[in-house]
Amino acid sequence: GAPDADVLTADLNATQSEAVRTVDGPVLVLAGAGTGKTRVLTTRLAYILRAGLAMHGQILAVTFTNKAAREMKERVGAMTRRPVEGWWLGTFHALAARMLRQNAERIGLNPNFTIIDTDDQLRLMKQLLQAQSIDEKKWPARTVLHAVQRWKDRGLTPDQVSAEDAGDLAGGKAIELYKQYQQRLLTLNACDFGDLLLHCLTLFREAGDVLEKYQQQFKYILVDEYQDTNVAQYLWLRLLAQGHKNICCVGDDDQSIYGWRGAEVGNILRFEQDFPGASVVRLEKNYRSTGHILGAAGGLISHNEGRLGKTLWTEIDQGEAVRVRGLWDGDAEARFVGEEVEALQADGHPLSEIAVLVRTGAMTRGFEDRFFTIGLPYRIVGGARFFERLEIRDALAYLRLIQSPDDDLAFERILNTPKRGLGDKALQTLYQAARARGTSLMRAAFDVAQTEELRPQARRALGTLLEKFARWRQLAQESDHVSLAQTVLDESGYTEMWQRDKSAEAPGRLDNLKELISAMGEFDALGGFLEHVSLVMETFADDAAEKVTVMTLHAAKGLEFDTVFLAGWEEGLFPNQRAMDENGVKGLEEERRLAYVGLTRAKRRAIVSFAANRRMFGSWNAAIPSRFVDELPKEHVKMESDPGLYGTGTGFGGGGFGGGRDTFSSFAEQPSRWTPGMARAYQRRQEGEAPTKFIEGTAETVASAPGKFGRGDRVFHRKFGYGTVRQAEGERLTIDFDKADTKKVMASFVVPPEQ
Ligand code: ATP
Ligand code: MG
Repeated sequence: GAPDADVLTADLNATQSEAVRTVDGPVLVLAGAGTGKTRVLTTRLAYILRAGLAMHGQILAVTFTNKAAREMKERVGAMTRRPVEGWWLGTFHALAARMLRQNAERIGLNPNFTIIDTDDQLRLMKQLLQAQSIDEKKWPARTVLHAVQRWKDRGLTPDQVSAEDAGDLAGGKAIELYKQYQQRLLTLNACDFGDLLLHCLTLFREAGDVLEKYQQQFKYILVDEYQDTNVAQYLWLRLLAQGHKNICCVGDDDQSIYGWRGAEVGNILRFEQDFPGASVVRLEKNYRSTGHILGAAGGLISHNEGRLGKTLWTEIDQGEAVRVRGLWDGDAEARFVGEEVEALQADGHPLSEIAVLVRTGAMTRGFEDRFFTIGLPYRIVGGARFFERLEIRDALAYLRLIQSPDDDLAFERILNTPKRGLGDKALQTLYQAARARGTSLMRAAFDVAQTEELRPQARRALGTLLEKFARWRQLAQESDHVSLAQTVLDESGYTEMWQRDKSAEAPGRLDNLKELISAMGEFDALGGFLEHVSLVMETFADDAAEKVTVMTLHAAKGLEFDTVFLAGWEEGLFPNQRAMDENGVKGLEEERRLAYVGLTRAKRRAIVSFAANRRMFGSWNAAIPSRFVDELPKEHVKMESDPGLYGTGTGFGGGGFGGGRDTFSSFAEQPSRWTPGMARAYQRRQEGEAPTKFIEGTAETVASAPGKFGRGDRVFHRKFGYGTVRQAEGERLTIDFDKADTKKVMASFVVPPEQ
């Protein structure tokens, strides 16, 4: 190679270096987690540039996320000391969109086409269904749209979908609808997300010169996370690579975790067939994790069948065994993680090197609440904070309106969500009425429902909605807020809206709604809960540089942290029941790969935890540890029990934990095996006290009655220390802390100083 470029590979091992330098011909780097695949790809890009083998415009580099693209740009920029503008480096979608804009006319679009969002997609599909007089109750627009998206993932245009594939979807009219949908989009000069790749494929097929131009242009193609490409992406790559055939893909079959979104791990297995003469490079040395972490992850993944099989070793020391910790319930788990993080922080570990990984988006809530309580800065990666999520904001808007009917923002939000024929026009009318009368929208609506201002259909819909609100408000007086919320979500049709939604995000949104109900159960009344929400939202406009990361396992792909907490390892939660129900053994194996991805994010410390009880949709469920806990090889694991519940023994009640599943739930039926702590907890539970809050009696669990604190009172907060109340508005306190700034906190988070 060129001497100037050689310095780039100086830090790499021989195999990595070979993978970087083998620039001619197809190369597949097939290797386990942390072996430097991404580093090889980044170095390869820099190497090609430094060696003068190509200009940046001649290299196509594909990453899985925009964040990964940014990082790669930064690293290569630093290695080559070149500006990185205009590079063909990004996600599949970003790169495809760029190609499409360059050639839009060739497939009947203008270069300034818009990329439409899900709402618009739905509206469009709905119109088409109506035009065809298809019963939307039977075939909701979302269901049809979902099928269209899956076809697009598979690179299928309407002409290419087989009648068999379409089945009786939309009364046998699905293909026709797909065709019309595509035509409509073209007329609108618009694309949906899936079109970006699909149109590229059409373009390549129909405009040979364009394909040829790109094939010539891209002398080198680099692809990260190849195991998670779907068929459309795969076809796109294969066509582009036919020119120079210098394609380098890196991936790990054990980390394929997007099968549910159409990814085909088969793509990686077929590489050598697709690209004859391909070099396959296997990296075996892991540079990320300790021996114990790798041993635990390797033992776990060995339970999957049909793997390519890989060796992984590390020169890093054995380190600490993977800790497995059982806790009483989700709250105790969040508390445990919070305490561990604080302890690490006290030992000088930066928060940015700590991550909490959860299986579902809904599970971030418990940790967010806990971290908020103890004042630990956190960030949510790959999604919004819990209370900022769309479905949570919708649900909260309903609840806020029950609490305060004059909340116009809430009213506007839910008026036509779910759709009930009260669109923009109706809202306009209500606005005028409200202005004319000088009242809120809700009050104006009660009037308008009696007049001729709205068309009969809209008037009826409005009447029905208002009747419901009247009933809910009544219910709010009579029943508890948790069942109120459940009723509201049911009767408003909001839950049903997401149940009918067949998009990939819908199950997660339903989970979040359930989690919202659970969260409400931790408060005495609706008012207190809504207050809490507004405080959480307000307090976290924080700008601390150092934050703990909370995210789903899916979002953690490719990342690494010193310490990783893997929470919620319970059967049904992880492995996720839905994944197993829908995809059987395949689903279970994908869950196991997800566990493998999670463990291998850890450099030095991995802490697995599970709870014996979960609050699900407002009620308590006993949980049993995940089978993945049992599958971790004993020699790499340290089982820890919760001392408050199980004494200080190593196992769970002396029974072999790893062998027979001596589960937590079985303890509930065996009082003779209860420790004093457990007996107390059970007793309290029977007495109807909130079971979570009184187990350990930490400061914040001592609930205080509203109005307990007043101006001038001295208080203690677990995180911020001692302070003086400056202002008290019900549960909301403004406190001047002695060693921290003035902060707003909930009264239930502070105690009188002597406690
Ligand atoms: P994953 O499968 O999780 O995506 P990966 O194979 O892409 O992992 P990288 O993220 O590239 O692995 O590398 C893992 C860690 O090891 C990084 O911190 C990287 O900088 C480091 N690393 C890789 N190769 C070397 C090397 N030769 N010398 C020192 N550190 C290395
Ligand atoms: Mg990587």
